[in-house]
Amino acid sequence: MKQIVLKHTLEDRPEPDDFTLIDAPTPPCPQGGIVARVVHLSLDPYVGSRLRGRHMGEAAPQPMIEAIPGGIVGQVNESRSPTFKPGDWVHAAAGAWAELVALPGDAARKLDPTVAPLGAHASVLGMPGLTAWAGMTQLAKVRPGDVVLIDAAAGAVGGAAGQIARLMGAKRVIGIAGGAQKCAVVEQVYGFDVCVDYRAPDWEKALDAACAGNPPSVHFENVSVAMLTTALTRMAPYGRVVLCGLADQYHASTPPPQIPAGLIIGKRAQLDGLVVYDFYPRWNEYIAWAAPLVQAQTLRFVEDRVTGLENAPMLFGKLMRGENVGKAVVTVASP
Ligand code: NDP
Repeated sequence: MKQIVLKHTLEDRPEPDDFTLIDAPTPPCPQGGIVARVVHLSLDPYVGSRLRGRHMGEAAPQPMIEAIPGGIVGQVNESRSPTFKPGDWVHAAAGAWAELVALPGDAARKLDPTVAPLGAHASVLGMPGLTAWAGMTQLAKVRPGDVVLIDAAAGAVGGAAGQIARLMGAKRVIGIAGGAQKCAVVEQVYGFDVCVDYRAPDWEKALDAACAGNPPSVHFENVSVAMLTTALTRMAPYGRVVLCGLADQYHASTPPPQIPAGLIIGKRAQLDGLVVYDFYPRWNEYIAWAAPLVQAQTLRFVEDRVTGLENAPMLFGKLMRGENVGKAVVTVASP
């Protein structure tokens, strides 16, 4: 089978040329586990840090040996687990950039392929969707009347977060994204009230206009401390902030700047850090709620999709440069 590995250890931002496709032995099926055929591979921002050994204390994959880690949607080929049988559809957050993955039984979750398009399980029903749901419903606890501000709003997490906020009763959802194409997706597909393009001149004035008379009561941060500060400045007192990600730190060699403590005090703001791992036990609960909404196209998702495992490094390069529009997904094999 084929898998993608790093050619060498990484110090800087991963570029497509840092990866190579190699032949690898078919993995043996572990006792109590499965071997799954990968159909869809999810490319996620955390992998950029993971490749340099800087994600949640997890080691970087060994160059030329270990496949790059990644979430997968696939089908069981072989099982030594009482829970799975060949043909079952599964999702695994800790899969790999490979045609076949061996997984312990407790690392895979059975999927019903009929509840939504299969690709949705790599996106809005996958880890990014669960992240958005956790942030909006469990941490910020969005309620009717909230005004919600979200950056990286065209991404899989941001786009789902805005739609979930609306479903929770938010009266206004404001996005921030880089470029007109992304803002069009945020407004026209995800249905935010407005999206401010932070690459446009005078964008902070446009943000002031978007918040005029409607200061955000909730902010969902995906990008940077600078953006967090921009958002906090415009927030209503006693707002709730979810710190989900710092995309500008993917490749940084220095720690992020200090968060604006004085501003947080002045705004009486509440900040919650979000780690989606804490919510993995609630994945099936989330899917039971979200899948009918996805099926009805009330909860929509956009994919930046390529076909062929060999194209994963190219798409990952786009993700690392912030050039992806929607969820980066590689279709590795035909369903
Ligand atoms: P996205 O598709 O949103 O990609 C990240 C986006 O960040 C880019 O498209 C870009 O959007 C923006 N960005 C701003 N600055 C940079 C930069 N220097 N380099 C690259 N991108 C930049 O990704 P996801 O939807 O998958 O994830 C969104 C955020 O959520 C990320 O920060 C991710 O790390 C975080 N996350 C956190 C989890 C948790 O458990 N806490 C779980 C899952 C994701 P734009 O052009 O609009 O600025």
